[in-house]
Amino acid sequence: MKDLLGGKGAGLAEMTNAGLPTPPGFTITTEACNDYFEAGKTLPAGLWEDVLEAVKAVETGTGKGFGDPRNPLLVSVRSGAKFSMPGMMDTVLNLGLNEQTLEGLVALTGNERFGWDAYRRFIQMFGRIVMGVDGERFEHPLQARKDLHGPGAKDTDLTVDDLKALVAVSKQVVAEDAGREFPTDPDEQLDLAIKAVFASWFGKRANDYRNSQKIAHDLGTAVNVVTMVYGNMGDDSGTGVAFTRDPNTGEKLLYGEYLVNAQGEDVVAGIRTPEKISHLAEEMPEAYAEFQRIANQLEKHYKDVQDLEFTIERGKLYMLQTRSAKRTAAAAVKIAVDMVGEGLIDRREAVGRIEPAQVDQLLRDQFDPIARKAAKQIAKGLNASPGAAVGRAVFNADVAVEWVARGETVVLVRVETSPDDFHGMAVAQGILTARGGATSHAAVVARQIGKPCVAGCAELVVDYATRTARSTVSGTDLAEGDWISVDGSTGEVFLGALPTVSARFEDQPELQTVLGWADEIRRLQIWTNADKPEEAAQARSYGAQGIGLCRTEHMFREGERLEIVRGAILVANAATRAKAKTAAGEALDVDEAAVVAQFDAAMDKLEVLQQGDFEGILAAMSGLPVVVRLIDPPLHEFLPNLEEQLVKVTKAGDAATAEDRELLATIRSMHEQNPMLGLRGCRLGLMIPDFVKIQTRAILNAAVAVKRAGKDPRPEIMIPLVGHVNELIATRALLDAEAEAVVAKAGETIDFKFGTMIEIPRAVWVADQIAEHAEFFSFGTNDLTQMTFGYSRDDAEGGFLLKYVEDGILPENPFQTLDDVIADEMQMAVDRGRAARPGLKVGICGEHGGDPASIHKCEKIGLNYVSCSPFRIPVARLAAAQAAMSDGAFRDK
Ligand code: PEP
Ligand code: MG
Repeated sequence: MKDLLGGKGAGLAEMTNAGLPTPPGFTITTEACNDYFEAGKTLPAGLWEDVLEAVKAVETGTGKGFGDPRNPLLVSVRSGAKFSMPGMMDTVLNLGLNEQTLEGLVALTGNERFGWDAYRRFIQMFGRIVMGVDGERFEHPLQARKDLHGPGAKDTDLTVDDLKALVAVSKQVVAEDAGREFPTDPDEQLDLAIKAVFASWFGKRANDYRNSQKIAHDLGTAVNVVTMVYGNMGDDSGTGVAFTRDPNTGEKLLYGEYLVNAQGEDVVAGIRTPEKISHLAEEMPEAYAEFQRIANQLEKHYKDVQDLEFTIERGKLYMLQTRSAKRTAAAAVKIAVDMVGEGLIDRREAVGRIEPAQVDQLLRDQFDPIARKAAKQIAKGLNASPGAAVGRAVFNADVAVEWVARGETVVLVRVETSPDDFHGMAVAQGILTARGGATSHAAVVARQIGKPCVAGCAELVVDYATRTARSTVSGTDLAEGDWISVDGSTGEVFLGALPTVSARFEDQPELQTVLGWADEIRRLQIWTNADKPEEAAQARSYGAQGIGLCRTEHMFREGERLEIVRGAILVANAATRAKAKTAAGEALDVDEAAVVAQFDAAMDKLEVLQQGDFEGILAAMSGLPVVVRLIDPPLHEFLPNLEEQLVKVTKAGDAATAEDRELLATIRSMHEQNPMLGLRGCRLGLMIPDFVKIQTRAILNAAVAVKRAGKDPRPEIMIPLVGHVNELIATRALLDAEAEAVVAKAGETIDFKFGTMIEIPRAVWVADQIAEHAEFFSFGTNDLTQMTFGYSRDDAEGGFLLKYVEDGILPENPFQTLDDVIADEMQMAVDRGRAARPGLKVGICGEHGGDPASIHKCEKIGLNYVSCSPFRIPVARLAAAQAAMSDGAFRDK
């Protein structure tokens, strides 16, 4: 139903079917919208006739006449797409008004001021949205009229004469700017408004929003034509928005706000500060009771939190909208857990409803509590969207985009936001507004895109002209570029950049409950990429079931180790040649013997250090597999930079030391034009076998030590960058010899697995041959992507690649989300590998292992596990469960 009628239309239709009080109306389908564009922006044949017929039905239902001066039917014309796009498309209210119907409206309501105000609003709204007049053009006369009533006068202070004058001025503005008179024929108004709402589907705001939310551009919008009901008909009228549960915390209570004697736009625009919904129980007890009953009914019907819009016209309640509510990550998790407890939904549904990005958000940073105590609070507003944001204050969305493009981090500060600010909100760390409530545009959009937001910070006087803000309470002045810290969880705003601390997983029992349910559903195991015992322990606390990648070279870079590694590398080639001579029975000269001694001494030290590291990791992961990958990167990465060394030697001239010259020569000799495609991975181990030997000994001796300490070490040794099966066979021979020696010396059997990475396209083709010698595969999709696309990992992302994505040449950054062809390669390797070795264990350890969309592909390919960095494990657990369920279990966005 939503596909065709859009969210709003479907909600209205369901509410009408359920017998709830909705104003009569009809919906033009999204299909009609698409036909309209396909036909070059003309209404599809028969549509207009259908519209006229539907109008007749509404006339019958309401007893009013469209264009009838005695009893006029007035309608709203609203957009409504399948996915909620809050405020991104257009709406026209009070349509059907002209000088004649206005008289009827005044006579019927007995309220001249109300009639003229409705007419004034209609001309301005229609002028702006349908006739393309700049909204600012109406604002000046409006403000001028208000000023006549003294400083701080409100819309409600305007008299009938003011409104009449404003109508005249507004019509004149339309005539001047649109080049035609304001249309008076209601049918023509309707025709133009429908087309304008269609057109707003391809408006800039809507396009930007769809791009950011990955919503397809070809869905189209429906158009809802609904009888107007008025919340501004006096003190027994009102309008509001409410959620069936608190969308910030998930607490089970009606949450929302309303305004007496006002129209819906007044609530959303945040022009007057609304009352809490609970207060309605005192002001209009009957309407409140009915609203509460309906809210319950709708939540039970949809089995989800509803976001409701209502209007009370002279004591009668009308429901204008129901839709599934946007919510913060914390609320999403609490609501899902609570609803399972209430028996409304089952565990699978609960797991399907949480978006992976929300889990990510829950583990996001907060302000350091100590720094926050000492910080200078400059203002306080409403805690509209949780999280900590730090950035430099900017007062304009375009400026925000510019600053971010040049590498700044910003907080967008506005009086209030409108859909035109979306692009700025999307790039900002957080949002701060002076006006507007918990349901204002800023609040709703910030929650949805997961940005911290403080709204309705009334003490903040924002001046766009001077690009400054002043807090009237603290007296602090804020200029463009000043650092501020915004706490969307408490509403506080601080001067300066406060340090943040990460959110603690262990403090979030409800999240753990949901992830526990996800664990029951998922098939894929979740492993982690970790190089240190602390990381391993953290990953395990997040639920890691193994280490899928321990990059041993990371251990080479720390502190004193780098010097030891350098010492070994500088003589590695010479020492390896000398050792070959010894092996062939040839004698070594003094220099050669010295080089071998130097090399062995360094390697011995390294072996001891690495064994210590492995003991820590194997102990932390006792009982779980730990895949240790042997050294991978090219050796020059551990040496000083060639250019720097060259400059040093050149500058010193004749005074350059022999040592520095020698170092320069060695760096030069190891320099490669294309190191990513050069002597790295298993090639390195084959050229300098001692790397393989010491690492094998370090791993297996560590396993012996951990086992003797009463733990259960499960090492797996992985060979990187294999392209030809012979590389694997030769490496395995080296490794097996060392393993045998370790076993013989220790007098203990050591269980370990031997496997390989699949990260070179050639390996995919010969995966069956490779599987004969490897007990497991792990896809190194960083390299596999690099080598399949021919894009340098080091350069592409900083260069053309992001532009490619922006221009739509590539649908996504393939280094973030698995490209389909890479996925096909993986499938091929899995099929060939398992054909040769049934039950072959296969995982992924490239960056894609923590990306939800890629995890879906891994599930389809039939991997055994995905391995990702520790902090992505919770997200991966959820994504793997969702991947295991049918695609339909994904939240209907
Ligand atoms: C890979 O290539 O995907 C991988 C995990 O290895 P590295 O990133 O260390 O090259
Ligand atoms: Mg790699």
